[in-house]
Amino acid sequence: KVVVVGSYIVDLMCRTPHIPKPGETVLGGSFQMGPGGKGGNQAVAAARLGSDVTMVTKVGKDVFGEEAIRNFQKEGIDISRVNCDEKEATGTALIAVDQHGENMIVVALGACGSLTEEDVEQARGEFADADIILVQLETSIEAVKKTIELANEFVKPVILNPAPYQEIGEDLLKGVTYITPNETEVFALTGIEVTNFSQAQKAAIKLTNKGVSTVIITLGRKGCFVYDGTDAGRMIAGYEVKAVDTTGAGDAFNGAFATFISQGFNLDEAARLSNSVAALSVTKIGTSVSMPYKEELDFLKDN
Ligand code: ADP
Repeated sequence: KVVVVGSYIVDLMCRTPHIPKPGETVLGGSFQMGPGGKGGNQAVAAARLGSDVTMVTKVGKDVFGEEAIRNFQKEGIDISRVNCDEKEATGTALIAVDQHGENMIVVALGACGSLTEEDVEQARGEFADADIILVQLETSIEAVKKTIELANEFVKPVILNPAPYQEIGEDLLKGVTYITPNETEVFALTGIEVTNFSQAQKAAIKLTNKGVSTVIITLGRKGCFVYDGTDAGRMIAGYEVKAVDTTGAGDAFNGAFATFISQGFNLDEAARLSNSVAALSVTKIGTSVSMPYKEELDFLKDN
């Protein structure tokens, strides 16, 4: 079982002829609403690959919150730990996308931003029978901290996807089994710009020195770099695909990685398979909706 602790955000997306200037109203084109948030996206990615997933998050008492629950249920995700906040609204992202694909986004984390230590504590039983825990930084740091503590208490592996990056105490890294930053996040964490193998290695060593067991740096179409301290680290090549929308690639990767590690694949195999899932996800438009199903992976078997 995979336990995901993180955000649920509804994406409200409008196409627009151009991005509005302050004070300007633009008559936009089509409107689209869809489930989003890193936590929710990663939960969907894992569920579609066959994982038994429990989502720990918080939504508001509003229509978007009801929609969130419906959507999780449709994906077969356990919603018993989705709490409802009395005061805050469900997390929302207001997105405007122009003809060139340029975008402007305002996120109000709302309910999922105020996930408390107690919300996570209430899910203690889920941690006890989890195979792996997956958490991001799109909630409160206290919730992230509690998640890592509980995972450590039950001696369960925990993946920290440090996205979107926010300042975290160094102490927090000590209990992390796997950390999965992209290039931007690894720079924020270590001050190292990862453009080649030796820099990836340097950054990974820096993170393991802070107490993380295994480092996976995702490198877009190039794939990822993995390091577990047993050797100099390895590049796990990405899959060549025709990318149409790379948003959510990291979410696909993390949901997949949690799934494959929990199924007993070794680090390199799990990373390679996660590269393939993420590659498939960028061939389709959307985040949550573009997460591939287990059956689709057969395509890549001989790749
Ligand atoms: P994020 O989406 O968080 O910025 P990355 O850009 O590093 O993260 O992408 C995460 C993973 O998605 C990569 O490790 C890779 O496996 C896959 N990926 C991303 N972009 C592409 C692409 N253009 N072609 C193939 N795979 C991709």
